[in-house]
Amino acid sequence: MARYIFITGGVVSSLGKGLMAASLGALLQARGFKVRIRKFDPYLNVDPGTMSPYQHGEVYVTDDGAETDLDLGHYERFTGVSARQSDNITSGRVYRDIIAKERRGDYLGATVQVIPHVTDAIKQFALADQGDHDFILCEIGGTVGDIESLPFMEAIRQLRNELEPDQTVSVHVTLVPYIAAAGELKTKPTQHSVRELASLGIKPDVLLCRCEHPLPESERRKIAQFCNVRAEAVIPALDAPSIYSVPQQYHAEGLDTEVLRAFGITDSPEPDLANWEDVTDRYFNPEGEVTIAVVGKYVGLPDAYKSLNEALVHGGLANRVKVNIHWIDAEIFEKDAADIAVELEPMHGILVPGGFGERGSEGKIASVRFARERDVPFFGICLGMQMACIEAARTSGIEEASSTEFGATSEPVVGIITEWMSEEGLQTREAGGDMGGTMRLGAYEAVLAGNSHISAIYGGVTQISERHRHRYEVNAAYRDALESQGLIFSGMSPDGLLPEIVERPNHPWFIGVQFHPELKSRPFEPHPLFAGFIAAAVEQSRLF
Ligand code: GLN
Repeated sequence: MARYIFITGGVVSSLGKGLMAASLGALLQARGFKVRIRKFDPYLNVDPGTMSPYQHGEVYVTDDGAETDLDLGHYERFTGVSARQSDNITSGRVYRDIIAKERRGDYLGATVQVIPHVTDAIKQFALADQGDHDFILCEIGGTVGDIESLPFMEAIRQLRNELEPDQTVSVHVTLVPYIAAAGELKTKPTQHSVRELASLGIKPDVLLCRCEHPLPESERRKIAQFCNVRAEAVIPALDAPSIYSVPQQYHAEGLDTEVLRAFGITDSPEPDLANWEDVTDRYFNPEGEVTIAVVGKYVGLPDAYKSLNEALVHGGLANRVKVNIHWIDAEIFEKDAADIAVELEPMHGILVPGGFGERGSEGKIASVRFARERDVPFFGICLGMQMACIEAARTSGIEEASSTEFGATSEPVVGIITEWMSEEGLQTREAGGDMGGTMRLGAYEAVLAGNSHISAIYGGVTQISERHRHRYEVNAAYRDALESQGLIFSGMSPDGLLPEIVERPNHPWFIGVQFHPELKSRPFEPHPLFAGFIAAAVEQSRLF
């Protein structure tokens, strides 16, 4: 049976618990263990699919079609293990399932309560689908003391009691703030947080203390003493220069060694961190740089495009260049058309990412036009591909070309999809139906045209599988009109009905994809589309 590592956070949110979980997973993996990482989200949404990216950051989509927390993206990028439906749960989903069971009469007259029914459901989720994993890491969202997280803490407490004594370890991530006026690091918030956790019946084995200044040995001992943890298990975690240096940094501070020691494992070989050394070498020693414009909507919050940001970095790693991302709110191009040349002329590549809603769409279409006319490498993702198609349609003379997502239109170059084939058979949706969980979600295959740019990018294969998250689709009825403008449909769904990829053969690099390649890019395996796009941007930078 797998061993369990429960990861909780204290003092404040945004301490990088997700990255810590991902790094610990990567370190255990580098020692030869098989790991899975799960996220427990205490909020009441069934999944983050309906939340604004400004509220919650990006929605990460798994191969099996779950809309999940963005931390699952960190887990995948750091461990290479594809996340699944069974790796993310929310209070909303637990309650939805329990209430459905109650309505069916499955509780046979019992009173349905948080303990045991909610806590049992959480425990079942933690224990499900263990496979042959050595470790399952469970990260609990939020901060200890939150009302919402109480059932999750209680479920951990029970599991720690029910599983074997050496089968679970608790890691608590806290903050050791620096008070400038006193010139000191303060341990009191950590003491309080551990006390709060202890009051819920959970004694941490390892403390990861986030700090902006080095933690003096005396403070480390003080934390150990007050928090009833071995001094070596108080791991200082200074801010890292890059997320990709976190695994090596935490290893140097003893995180994985201490977690294993808490399990009673003291004979594990040192981790093989060669691939992390290669990634950090490429990251910190670039041989050049390029600047990419990302023309989107949620540009005020970097987390809203987390995977995209990382995939662009990976494209840079593949080409040994630094990628500067110039985030542009598409709406600014709608107010003053002159801005566009000022903003986009210095760019070595233009990317229009995924998005929802009409706001900024004309600015995105204008950016596509700029990239096409000026031969600047262009990459359109999901909504970005749809905008590239509308741009081509308008150039062909279809002036009213639009998407039904933006309102009724006489020229639906992009329209709602209500039927498509999946592995489970025909999927159908109604226009105007529920918004949650009803998009075309998860991995779907696409067939690539021979001799196309896209098939060369993927190394000559003719069939690929990529993750999707969309409700609208380029309308194949406009194919001839678009191809007459030089925008070729070079990838289709296997049944030939849904356009998956468009490209311009007469342009240095112009590709639109209906899927989200950024979700599958990893630092050790940069996605070929991002590696190719950045290579084209490097070429473009040579023209400057
Ligand atoms: N809003 C578009 C759709 O639903 C694009 C979605 C996306 O970019 N992820 O089809």
